[in-house]
Amino acid sequence: MKLLYQARLAIEAHIIKNHLLSYGIDTQIKGEHLTGGIGELPANVCEVWVIKDEERDRASNLLQAFHQQHKQSPQKPLEYWQCPQCHEIHETCFTQCWQCGLEQAS
Ligand SMILES: [Zn+2]
Repeated sequence: MKLLYQARLAIEAHIIKNHLLSYGIDTQIKGEHLTGGIGELPANVCEVWVIKDEERDRASNLLQAFHQQHKQSPQKPLEYWQCPQCHEIHETCFTQCWQCGLEQAS
């Protein structure tokens, strides 16, 4: 398992996880529930780990492309919406839940 990315927000880590999963890459999120003791990672840092070592390079490229897409508004955090039905998290460019098929209301 290899470390891919450190996200400041749990939500960002989840979006990346979902993004990579859509390309068939399995990841694991670590650190979500850290309390931030002395000498440890500060709270709210989420690490995204690629399960299979050989997929790390591909995941890294996908992540880079993903961040390029969001470069137009670097000051703004990633936007997302959460499905009210199954609580899956999506980027705003998707209007339909890929988990349960629910259409976004607005
Ligand atoms: Zn859903």
